Amino acid sequence: TVLFQLGEMATATESLDESTFEILGGELGYKVQVVSPEDEDKELLEGFGLDLEQELEDEDESDLEIRPPVVTVVGHVDHGKTKLLDAIRQTNVVAGEAGGITQHIGAYQVWTEHDGIERAITFIDTPGHEAFTAMRARGAQVSDIAILVVAADDGIMPQTVEALNHMQAANVPIVVAVNKVDKEGANPARVRQQLTEFGLVAEEFGGDTMFVDVSALQGKGIPELLDAVLLTADAGLDLRANPNKDARGIAIEAKLDRGRGAVATVLIQSGTLHVGDAIVAGTAYGRVRAMHDENGDAVEEAQPSRPVQVQGLSTVPRAGDTFLVTEEDRTARQIAEKREAVERNAQLAKARKRISLEDFTRALEEGKVESLNLIIKGDVSGAVEALEEALLKIEIDDSVQLRILHRGVGAVTESDIDLATIDNAIVIGFNVRPDVKARERAQREGIDVRFYSVIYAALEDIESSLKGMLKPEF
Ligand code: GDP
Repeated sequence: TVLFQLGEMATATESLDESTFEILGGELGYKVQVVSPEDEDKELLEGFGLDLEQELEDEDESDLEIRPPVVTVVGHVDHGKTKLLDAIRQTNVVAGEAGGITQHIGAYQVWTEHDGIERAITFIDTPGHEAFTAMRARGAQVSDIAILVVAADDGIMPQTVEALNHMQAANVPIVVAVNKVDKEGANPARVRQQLTEFGLVAEEFGGDTMFVDVSALQGKGIPELLDAVLLTADAGLDLRANPNKDARGIAIEAKLDRGRGAVATVLIQSGTLHVGDAIVAGTAYGRVRAMHDENGDAVEEAQPSRPVQVQGLSTVPRAGDTFLVTEEDRTARQIAEKREAVERNAQLAKARKRISLEDFTRALEEGKVESLNLIIKGDVSGAVEALEEALLKIEIDDSVQLRILHRGVGAVTESDIDLATIDNAIVIGFNVRPDVKARERAQREGIDVRFYSVIYAALEDIESSLKGMLKPEF
């Protein structure tokens, strides 16, 4: 009622923006404070005496030491991101153990000579901006610099622009690798020209973006590219961290390994991580039992910007989860448990908001919904059509609506569940089952997915729910 008086025609299943909530709260005599998940977590940690922002602020200049830049490789599909990451790994000049088999742990470090000094660079080994963006959406900033790969024979493509937009939005400086210059028809000058339109102006044109011609296939231009990365790092980034404290960082990849249990690759952002440290990453906790680098070698300690694979966590953290070392095992466990409780509550709240066929009648009676939204999937198109036709013939009061948002042939998929989540719909599967991922997602999101093998049964359920949903008359 209050919302209506405010001119906001919202029903109970719709979302409201923050400012509307604040106004609504004020009208009802409450002060509304909108808390982001990051804020909530910050408060949670403060409850344990851990204020990570304050900790960084309080750090003494003299405690800070230079750390290697962390680099992400992005660009359009097939422009050579994977090949480039492989080529860079192979030019590791100082590694000593050249020829050693490197393993994919989600990131690796290479050493290069720059101005006569050996320096390290850390590469995130998952090409593309999707992982970067997913982590950023969760508040984690992993990369300092992005290498934008553009194939010289192809030029700027849609994902080139998308990737560069994502990087610019995150304020991450870009080095452009103009790749495939070995190919006939390669036109590196055109790439430079095209990118000026997006604010990336090459140094030779008076801009401040470094462009390097490379051939990932032939391993050409890689040392120059690494040089450009370090020059970019030195030009405007203050890449320093205090290595002499408990480690803090981000989980960038994790999996359940048969035999080793949960293994997570973490990127240290400050402090030093040691074997034996008590650690919490997201809702996973434990003691670092062992650490390995990308060569599979055991590591005793890891300093800022170093990626290491950690064993000893209770469960698998998610990419983008922050991690930190605590003085005591108990603290790590308690933080993880509190986070888990927070997550559980959030999921319950989400699931409660969703509608099922059973509670539809009640929601309707309470004036909370006006239409029953359906997504229909079936094994053959004839069946889907027949079901749809029969459904649309149900005679109902015109105060309610039956909307079929989507129909199709095939299994119930994740994208069906996504649609149902957005539009608060019920999913009907006719002679089809959901795939595993769809089932998991439906469960997580609290989506009502129903399966039928006779049209009549489906019809009956929906009809009775629709009939019961005559809205009270005002
Ligand atoms: P991604 O999708 O960006 O990771 O691209 P890939 O690294 O998988 O490369 C796509 C294709 O381009 C593969 O067939 C590579 O062998 C080829 N490729 C990558 N770099 C070069 C290069 O420098 N020169 C040539 N000629 N081909 C390349």
